[in-house]
Amino acid sequence: MSNVTAFVEGWDFVQTLGEGAYGEVKLAVNTQTLEAVAVKIINLERVPQAEENVRKEVCVHRMLDHENVIKFFGHRKDDKIQYIFLEYASGGELFDKIEPDVGMPEAEAHRYFKDLLSGVEYLHTRGVTHRDLKPENLLLTVNDVLKISDFGLATVFRYQGKERLLEKCCGTVPYVAPEVMLRKPYNAEPSDIWSCAVILVALLAGELPWDEPTYICQEYCDWKDCKITQSPWTKIDNLALSLLRKLLVENPSKRYTLEQIQKHQWFNKKFSKQNAGLSRTLSSSPSDSPSGKRPFKRRCSSQYPSSPVHDKDRVASSQPELSHQQRDCQGDSIATTGVDLAPVFSFSQPVHPDHMLLSSQFQGTPGASQTPMQQLVRRMTRFFVKTDKSETLKLLDDALSGYGYSCKHNSPGVGDGLEFKRHFMKIKGKMKPSINKVLPALPLIPSQTVKVQP
Ligand code: ATP
Repeated sequence: MSNVTAFVEGWDFVQTLGEGAYGEVKLAVNTQTLEAVAVKIINLERVPQAEENVRKEVCVHRMLDHENVIKFFGHRKDDKIQYIFLEYASGGELFDKIEPDVGMPEAEAHRYFKDLLSGVEYLHTRGVTHRDLKPENLLLTVNDVLKISDFGLATVFRYQGKERLLEKCCGTVPYVAPEVMLRKPYNAEPSDIWSCAVILVALLAGELPWDEPTYICQEYCDWKDCKITQSPWTKIDNLALSLLRKLLVENPSKRYTLEQIQKHQWFNKKFSKQNAGLSRTLSSSPSDSPSGKRPFKRRCSSQYPSSPVHDKDRVASSQPELSHQQRDCQGDSIATTGVDLAPVFSFSQPVHPDHMLLSSQFQGTPGASQTPMQQLVRRMTRFFVKTDKSETLKLLDDALSGYGYSCKHNSPGVGDGLEFKRHFMKIKGKMKPSINKVLPALPLIPSQTVKVQP
């Protein structure tokens, strides 16, 4: 990270927030102000095929500026390392809010769904389609506002008022619309809407409706045949189900549009503020035994696909999609078309980013009761155990005395955040035999989601 710190003097790279197939996302915190940004780091030496995708991701993301979309602060290339500076979403992934087999309270799901649709509506009005909407790509702020993230597969489908069909078969299979699986040209907007509907099922029921929307999948056939006497449908309220009936429609031209969704009764249903604001994390209500037949899966990565199909797509400039992609995603050509660009900070010159990097982010989180560092500590210093309370306390006592701590059974005093984190990691290491690997890593069973391959 030495070349990172060279140009972001005054910023500490304190923690890895997440890892993707081609890089990692780190949290950078300003040493003076404690302001934070997420920095996506892609090493092109290791993944040369990512270069074109990063260029496209940057090109699309920099056009966007909306409350429900992760803000793009800037981009820098240092030799073979690419850095993308993003608004830091300290609340983690929406994925982690979903309890396996349960989902979350309807009011909460409703609120997240509205946030999601507001972000998607914005993207579509800008002519952008995300193409990989799923709970892992929906991040939350400290105030629980949903932000669409990861524009690695996003593309421009409408340019200067002219819409084009898409051809690339990409996304994460359980969330992908049936027409995308057919490998024929498809409309961008309905396919994103389909993914939103699958996300809604996940929020309301804590499981995915099918592995893939094709006739080889019995669950999908049952849904098509209106056989909904089974989970997940039985867990979903009738009004919400009636909306899903209009969304998970195989024919994209008959699928509800965003406008129609916004007129639906469930969408406009009023939930009491109290219920809608209740944030229930898995740390407070972990599920004992996730048993869903179609548990959530973590994707390996759908961002920088290296499979032959994508490589082929990328170079096949004769395809309409590609010629558009290439033209639309030239940063310069977008700027000259009069598209209203969000303010973008350039790090190509050695600048001190103290003020630039973060000023706009923190305007968005007034009243946040915790500093980014405190939020991070809260997020990272948690593990779940499979032992009961007395056994856990005993193991903890042993672990602590091994390190020379004296131990009292009440809440520990927490001083400096990082110092606490350091101690925490040591203790966590010692507690290894007792740690339940299923819950902390992934409340909902971790496994790889296979990318759609033509
Ligand atoms: P993938 O290969 O899985 O698509 P990627 O390299 O494109 O991954 P992202 O999906 O954008 O990277 O991010 C990986 C993880 O890092 C996310 O799932 C999230 O947990 C974390 N992360 C990404 N961006 C942010 C952010 N702005 N704020 C907080 N955490 C973030």
